[in-house]
Amino acid sequence: RKILLILGFLSTLAAIALITVAVTQNQPLPKNTKYGIVLDAGSSHTNLYVYEWPAEKENDTGVVQQVEVCKVEGPGISGYSHDTENAGHSLVQCLRQAQGVIPSKQHQETPVYLGATAGMRLLSLENKNAADKVLSSVEKTLRSAPFNFQGARIISGQEEGAYGWITINYLLGNFKQSGWTKLLHSLKSVSETSGALDLGGASTQITFVSDESPSESPENLLYFRLYGKDYRVYTHSFLCYGKDQALQQKLARDIQSTESNSIHDPCFHQGQLYVMGEGNYEKCRRSIQNLFNKTSCPYSSCSFNGIYLPPLQGDFGAFSAFYFVMNFLNLTNDNPFALDKVASAVQSFCARPWHEVKEAYHQIKEKYLSEYCFSGAYILSLLENGYEFNKENWQRIHFLGKIGSSDAGWTLGYMLNLTNMIPAEEPAAPPLSHG
Ligand code: AMP
Repeated sequence: RKILLILGFLSTLAAIALITVAVTQNQPLPKNTKYGIVLDAGSSHTNLYVYEWPAEKENDTGVVQQVEVCKVEGPGISGYSHDTENAGHSLVQCLRQAQGVIPSKQHQETPVYLGATAGMRLLSLENKNAADKVLSSVEKTLRSAPFNFQGARIISGQEEGAYGWITINYLLGNFKQSGWTKLLHSLKSVSETSGALDLGGASTQITFVSDESPSESPENLLYFRLYGKDYRVYTHSFLCYGKDQALQQKLARDIQSTESNSIHDPCFHQGQLYVMGEGNYEKCRRSIQNLFNKTSCPYSSCSFNGIYLPPLQGDFGAFSAFYFVMNFLNLTNDNPFALDKVASAVQSFCARPWHEVKEAYHQIKEKYLSEYCFSGAYILSLLENGYEFNKENWQRIHFLGKIGSSDAGWTLGYMLNLTNMIPAEEPAAPPLSHG
């Protein structure tokens, strides 16, 4: 009887142990997630991005993803040149939103970066003192947030181009160099990385791997070693060729060449008020073409304004305003439209009278809506006349807004670089792979 009792007790213990093992095995390990914040202080507005990644996979490629974007109310920070103290305050609401997304106990360890682009580059050229005051104001606000402040600065056009290129190739998985992907890459006949075309309000960037050697213009070349592979990258940023600055340039020329005090502009819908729109795509293209000076080129080939451009190579991802505009015009598609189809779509949109356009798209911000005709024509001019894309290679351009859950733009590449998350050498495979 005693033996039976002991046996019964032992089997109960064994059963409890088994159940415990089963329960712990089925429970997922606690997720160890890290976060990072980047503010893109653009010419027309500021966006705050929150990124997350699994802590134990920090050096792997393709693991960082965007989990939140917050659009700051009001103008870009360069718009505070006469009210510099309030530039920082404008960011408060988005910083609060980020606090809600990131667990409180991780706020202190979360890095926050602010990069300002061409709007601030221009302000800095015009009025260095005001630009410095704006940066101090945003720095003060970022320092008072509970995150780990890592800097607020104006990034150069080259950095903007390079980080945009890194972002899209990271997200497209083009830096993956191990196992099956390595084999796939060696089988792929197409270029291994994708070029990057970025259109902002004040500047535009073109960046792609170029095998042309020796380079005629070393200042346009960048060398990277990423995940054990070398990249030779051409980049150029055109200040004042973002879509808002290009429109300013064009309107300034129109005013100079007109005798009356009203401007007849072929790039605006007929019947629009502040400029007399004519809705004439062909004429609009001709007038935009004057912005690209093609008369002299000190190199074997140029884009415009005497800037070196090696032969275009590989596929291109076109994002930011390239995407916003083409998406509005229904011209983004997984299978890109032919160049003549794109041109005729812009042409018919431009030809519609303003009152009709306004009624058809009443939900869209009037400022954007009134400019889509100009913007569509400008994008075609920049790509066709500026960079000399043609009907043969046009379909190599892919207009993309997001890749997975992350927006295409320079911010992710900037953070990956500053947090040392893109190693120069391929990380050694861990002794025990956890998948
Ligand atoms: P930035 O502020 O310098 O980054 O430039 C962004 C550009 O995209 C500006 O020219 C904005 O006017 C433009 N933009 C942003 N959102 C839209 C939209 N939904 N439709 C058209 N243009 C846009």
